[in-house]
Amino acid sequence: MDSSAKQDIRKLTLTELEEFFVSKGDKKFRAKQVYEWLWHKSLKNFDDMTNISKETREMLKENFAINHILVDLMQHSSDGTIKNAVKLFDSKIVESVLIPTSKRITACVSSQVGCSLDCNFCATARLKRMRNLNPDEIYDQVVAIKDEAETYFNRPLTNIVFMGMGEPLLNYNNVIEAIDKITSPEGLGMAPRRITLSTVGIPKMIKKMADDGVRFNLAISLHSAINETRSRLMPINNVNPVEDLAESLKYWYEKTKRKVTYEYVIWDGINDDETHARALAKFCKIIPSKVNIIQYNPIDEGEFRQASQDSVEMYVRILENQGIIAKVRKSRGQDIDAACGQLANKNEVGELEG
Ligand code: SAH
Repeated sequence: MDSSAKQDIRKLTLTELEEFFVSKGDKKFRAKQVYEWLWHKSLKNFDDMTNISKETREMLKENFAINHILVDLMQHSSDGTIKNAVKLFDSKIVESVLIPTSKRITACVSSQVGCSLDCNFCATARLKRMRNLNPDEIYDQVVAIKDEAETYFNRPLTNIVFMGMGEPLLNYNNVIEAIDKITSPEGLGMAPRRITLSTVGIPKMIKKMADDGVRFNLAISLHSAINETRSRLMPINNVNPVEDLAESLKYWYEKTKRKVTYEYVIWDGINDDETHARALAKFCKIIPSKVNIIQYNPIDEGEFRQASQDSVEMYVRILENQGIIAKVRKSRGQDIDAACGQLANKNEVGELEG
């Protein structure tokens, strides 16, 4: 049966669903029951909605489809990390990752199929952007990981990071709608402070988020506070230079009073000297912030190499001397290409290039 021909019921708001039931001569509250099955319980079949009569279920089936993602391939890393290759209703694939630590289980989710930004060190950039994910496709990735956390670790999902494929601020409305569902009681009821959106830093959108009063955390992929170096790493810096980013972050902090996190990779011969470390420390003074130094995950034999341990220590010393919190993050899931910047649908490359 071609389910894609029917309207996806999860595209409807609760109000629209209520209107639908009323138009069919049914009770308004039926909509709330169905809505809870669809979101809170994440059901994939109308037949499993046990408090809905058979007649109503048949009527729903005639009118709607439930377009759900499918975990097509699950890979387990030796360090416990799980990577899901997720098939969307149009057969496109994105990846999401479950990252277990002693205190947390984090879901790292994708916001776009591929990515339009050309960060030179990131494998996802090689895929180019194919399309934005819908809110339900983002939500479903979280549900899949929540289920895996319970199945494989017997623990609840504690955190969500938008650090998978794509640039979340270039799919803003859908990401916000997904987060609304994730945080609402009809959805997963997660606290916004457990969610982090990571971005290359698009000043106009950072200001918009501040105006919209979002309550989740913000992380900026900085990698250099010096324009020349940053533009070489991340071409978007040519149009959004560091000064504009800084200005938007001041605006963010004035409005939200929320600290930001800077993500930072140190590469051999690129940003591993003291000048770069001092520029970062200066940037960190603009608003309250902290730094996550992330290990480089090689994506090919190319120009990028992880800097030495000495350089990493030099950075930490300079930052800490100035009272800035800097954490060095270990890479997770490298053996299954699940680490930061490695999500590139490797197992599906043939299909994506075809
Ligand atoms: N577009 C968003 C989210 C996706 S990338 C963003 O740029 O923030 C998630 C994080 O992984 C970013 O900090 C990114 O800079 C980093 N990253 C990308 N490629 C990497 C690699 N090969 N090794 C380590 N980190 C990488």
